[in-house]
Amino acid sequence: MKYKTLVDVYDKVGSTTKKLEKTDIIANFIKDLNGEELKIVMPLLRGKIFSESEEEDLGIADNLVILALTKLGYSKKEIMDKFKDSGDLGLVAQEIAKKKKQSILFKKSLKIKKVYESIREIAKYTGKNSQERKINNILELLNSAEPSEARYVIRTILGELRLGTAEGILRDATSKAFEVDKELVERDYNLITDFGRVAKIAKNDGDKGLKKISLEIGTPTKAMLAEKSENLEKALEDAKNPAIEYKYDGTRILTQKEGEKIWVFTRRLENVTKQFPDIVELCKKNIKVEKSILEGEAVAIRDGKLLPFQELSKRIQRKYNIRKMSQEIPVQVNLFDCLLVDRKQLLDEKFSKRRKKLEEIISQEKGKFQLAEQLVTKDVEKVEKFYNEALDLGQEGIMVKNLDAPYQPGKRVGYMYKVKPEEETLDLVVVGAEWGQGRRANWLASFILAARDEETGELLGIGKMGTGLTDEQFKEMTKTLKPLIEFEKENKVRIKPKVVVETGYQEIQKSPTYESGYALRFPKLIRIREDKSVEEVDTLNRIENLYKKSSN
Ligand code: AMP
Repeated sequence: MKYKTLVDVYDKVGSTTKKLEKTDIIANFIKDLNGEELKIVMPLLRGKIFSESEEEDLGIADNLVILALTKLGYSKKEIMDKFKDSGDLGLVAQEIAKKKKQSILFKKSLKIKKVYESIREIAKYTGKNSQERKINNILELLNSAEPSEARYVIRTILGELRLGTAEGILRDATSKAFEVDKELVERDYNLITDFGRVAKIAKNDGDKGLKKISLEIGTPTKAMLAEKSENLEKALEDAKNPAIEYKYDGTRILTQKEGEKIWVFTRRLENVTKQFPDIVELCKKNIKVEKSILEGEAVAIRDGKLLPFQELSKRIQRKYNIRKMSQEIPVQVNLFDCLLVDRKQLLDEKFSKRRKKLEEIISQEKGKFQLAEQLVTKDVEKVEKFYNEALDLGQEGIMVKNLDAPYQPGKRVGYMYKVKPEEETLDLVVVGAEWGQGRRANWLASFILAARDEETGELLGIGKMGTGLTDEQFKEMTKTLKPLIEFEKENKVRIKPKVVVETGYQEIQKSPTYESGYALRFPKLIRIREDKSVEEVDTLNRIENLYKKSSN
């Protein structure tokens, strides 16, 4: 299939902001594709080249693309000037391709498969000459691209398709195109996190095929999410048959075992097996069954004391000297759920049964590999004591889980509630900033925050955070955000939306100033949430609900 066919769909999707229209355009396009085409096209429709379970990360920076574009006969300054105008290297590539077009007489048309494979290759080049080889691939694609194709090739390489084709739209389009149940599509995506495969099965085998999809070893599954509860009493009541656990301040890990082979995935579905050889060893030694999928929280620990999440995040990011790092920052694994044991999938079993199974199949190593601390009671006083213990240990609070509930991947469905001491916070993504003045001239000093429209994936501004940061925090924010600056105009910068910040605030108000229609009063930085991706920031829907709740 020609890449141009997909590009025409991109253009149509981009020309409307209406979710239903986007869904229809995509459904119409994918309904005639065969299984193999779907496997490629579904990720490309979200601007992705790898499914979640693959280890590769494209990670191409603007600079590399700029360098590639200079090889087409433009100076860096010319490219940068164009880039500053539009803030979109895709458009820059399109403009360049337009000028180049007249000079080329014969040219082969670009195929989707070629684009897909060539970009996948880019991610795999490492070591000597890798930069040159990456640039060669980019140039080869640009040389056979029509102007509009060049735009989307570059946007895909940079991981910014900018079309608002989020999970919800692909789910609805799949359901519509192949006349299958929407809930099933969503369930399956949460289980195997690969729209290409889900769509292929929907096309070939319909609902019957989709019902058969189950957990797979080697593939990450989305975590079940917790609802926030106002207080202990309410959480105990809502959870119906409550079991209370510490809410550890670490990172969710999904460990998978098949024989001697172990996988470790994070909540963001990253494969971090290589970064955690110690967890791999602990799993090999202490899981007594052949095959399992277990969930837990890894927490950094030193001299028997649990450390805050920031310490652990150093390990997640580390790509070299891994052994040394695992000695410097050892981890404690606290297991809290069990999704599969040998051939049996346990998602539909009650939590009480899953926890029991978990107890049976592991050998605990105190302080290293253990069951999450758990208390089964409805006695508020006992729960309060347990809650304070968790806080004294530096943990976030408690989780109150319904012992009778099944496991629901990827959803916040009222099967568990979190109780934490802080006031309500929002996880928002930084999309822009301003350089400071005077003493703060070298720091980014004011940050534009955005929430997410859950259907289209669009990021919508909701406020500006500038006061209440310590010097340390300004330094940290500047260091983290500076490499993500897309372009600058006077003292303002636009920032690639990657960094998620937990934000406190006094009030949510209606406001025409920001695209979301709301503004935060006195937003303040609580912490950078390295464990969260931009897809996980708080939604417009949640903000609307919080607004309604507070204005009642
Ligand atoms: P939140 O991110 O606040 O919605 O809370 C969900 C996260 O809490 C999960 O992804 C886990 O990483 C974490 N967590 C910590 N302790 C537990 C626990 N005992 N049970 C379930 N999740 C936990």
